[in-house]
Amino acid sequence: MNSRWNGQFSCYDLVAKTAARPNTIVRIGGIAIGGDEFIVMAGPCAVESERQVLDTALMVARSGARILRGGAYKPRSSPYSFQGLGVEGLKLLNKARDLTGLAIITEVMSETDVEIVAEYADILQVGARSMENFSLLERLGNCGRPVLLKRGMTATLEDLLRSAQFIVACGNPDVILCERGIRTFETATRNTFDVAAVPVLKTVSHLPVIVDPSHAAGVRALVPVLARAAVVVGADGLLVEVHPQPEKAFSDGEQSLTFVQFDSMMQDLAPYLNLRFEADKTFAMAGGFD
Ligand code: PEP
Ligand code: MN
Repeated sequence: MNSRWNGQFSCYDLVAKTAARPNTIVRIGGIAIGGDEFIVMAGPCAVESERQVLDTALMVARSGARILRGGAYKPRSSPYSFQGLGVEGLKLLNKARDLTGLAIITEVMSETDVEIVAEYADILQVGARSMENFSLLERLGNCGRPVLLKRGMTATLEDLLRSAQFIVACGNPDVILCERGIRTFETATRNTFDVAAVPVLKTVSHLPVIVDPSHAAGVRALVPVLARAAVVVGADGLLVEVHPQPEKAFSDGEQSLTFVQFDSMMQDLAPYLNLRFEADKTFAMAGGFD
C-alpha cells in the first residue's frame, strides 16, 4: 500500500486491508457484496404506498437490481416534511421481498429502532447525517445484519473508516462503505461525487464500497453517467433512487430515475461491467498505487 495512506489509515486495523484480510464479502442469502458481481440496490427514496413500492420492486428486479431500497424512517431537515411510514413502511418492504425475492435495505436513524428495523430488513442503512451517531453505531454492532454506512456530508475518508471501525469493534464485521457525495463550494450538483474515494477506499480497506450517484448528483440526468464512473473506478455496486412517478415523489423526486431510465442505465452499464475485471488486472500490473 502507498506509504502515505498506510500511515494515515493503518490505525483502523479492523477495517484496513492486509495481506491476511484483502477483501470482505458481505453475504445476504445468495447475494455477495464485494465479490465478482456488481450489485445494484434500487428503489424509492421513501416508501410511500403499497402500490408504489411493489411496482418499483417488480420493475427494478426485472432490470437487474438485486436489492430494493426504500426509506421507512426518513431523516428530513424540515419537521413539516414527510417523515416516513415507520413500521408500516417496513411491512410493505417485506411484501416486496416476498413478491420479488429482492433483499431489502432501509435506513435506521435511532438506536431505539434498530431491533424493529433488523426484524424486517436484510441490510441496515446508516444515513450520511448519522455517520457519527456513535450510540447508533454501537447498537449496530450486535444487530445481526450487515450495515451500509454512508459517508457524512463533511466527513473525510478517515472519518468514514473510523465509524466503520466503531461498528466492527462493537461486534459486526459486515460493514459496507458508501460514497454519496460530499459538500463542496460547487452548487451545480447537490453534492460533489468524490470519485477518488472509491479507489482509495478499495486500496486501504477490505470492506466493499458502494456508490450512491443519486444523492451525489441531485439531478436525474447525471445519475447514469456517475453510475458509469462508479463502475470504472472499481465500486462493488450502486444505490440508486427510482420512482414510478418522480414528479410526484414525497422526497428526492428530482434525482429519482423513472423505470425506463433505470432500465436503460442498467443496459448502458453492461459493457463497462464486462471490462471491469480486465481493467483491474491492467491496473494491478501497472503497480497499483505504489
Ligand atoms: C437516502 O438514502 O435517501 C438518504 C437520506 O441519503 P443520505 O443519508 O446519503 O443523504
Ligand atoms: Mn433520498
